[in-house]
Amino acid sequence: MRKSNFAPNEPQEAVRFFLNRLVPDLADRINVDVYFRRMKKQIGQCWMAREWSKRNFVVTCRSGLSRRKSLKVLAHECVHIMQYATGKLSDINPQQVLWKRSEIIDYPTKATVKEYNSTPWESEAIRMEEKLVRAYLRHLKKTA
Ligand SMILES: [Zn+2]
Repeated sequence: MRKSNFAPNEPQEAVRFFLNRLVPDLADRINVDVYFRRMKKQIGQCWMAREWSKRNFVVTCRSGLSRRKSLKVLAHECVHIMQYATGKLSDINPQQVLWKRSEIIDYPTKATVKEYNSTPWESEAIRMEEKLVRAYLRHLKKTA
């Protein structure tokens, strides 16, 4: 495991910060393992480690990114954790997801990046990632 430009504890601390912002009521009960790996296509990935629990997640970030970019990836994946942990997003089967407990959406397996990014769960994560990183960096400055 490589920590790519991070102090040893920073990925976990950043994830804690993001989750406390996103799901203050649930954050303490959510466990996230963060890994840095060489990834080809994606720069980040998030999955539920034990699907029934909605409390255990694994986040993988591409190694070698700048600290700022890595933080953005972690923030983005934390938005997905929020979506799963709250039940806003859930997998029905490998082809379909349930959004906001009401909308069944086909998982865009053959979509272009643009199409994929316009799914409601992606657009939400993209919309929030930068704000979360800025709040985190502000918080660091305050506590330094
Ligand atoms: Zn995403």
